[in-house]
Amino acid sequence: MEIDAYCTKCKIILTHVVAAMVGKRPKKVECLTCHGQHVYRASEPGSRAKAKAEKDSDGSKEKAPKKTPAKKRTKTKRGVEKEKELWRATLDKKDLASAKPYNMADSYEVDDIINHNKFGMGIVTKVITAKKMEVHFEAGRKCMVYNFSQ
Ligand SMILES: [Zn+2]
Repeated sequence: MEIDAYCTKCKIILTHVVAAMVGKRPKKVECLTCHGQHVYRASEPGSRAKAKAEKDSDGSKEKAPKKTPAKKRTKTKRGVEKEKELWRATLDKKDLASAKPYNMADSYEVDDIINHNKFGMGIVTKVITAKKMEVHFEAGRKCMVYNFSQ
């Protein structure tokens, strides 16, 4: 009886001949390539660990950032340029005369143009909460307070 099994000598899955059975399972097999006899293994010894490792890396997304910093740096640099382009392009389409001076007590809406005394012109890109919004400045997106009453 021929069977595909992992050859411990050839280190790959090869056709083997069953040399000994235990119940319905092959116990010992003979490799048709090297003619060595060994205990039957259905798959490579590493394949199980590999599958587990893959599963682990999949499930541990919190671990991923540990690996990314170097990668992230170049990505972020490119991202910053892209963000700047986006910021510029968005402002180009806006009427800067409508820019509101930033005041944390004022209320703003998405797409409002804000003139911040430190960060310059910014676009309200997101309303995070009733008192927090994301504003896209040339320097990047910042979380700003608005609707703030003391
Ligand atoms: Zn072999």
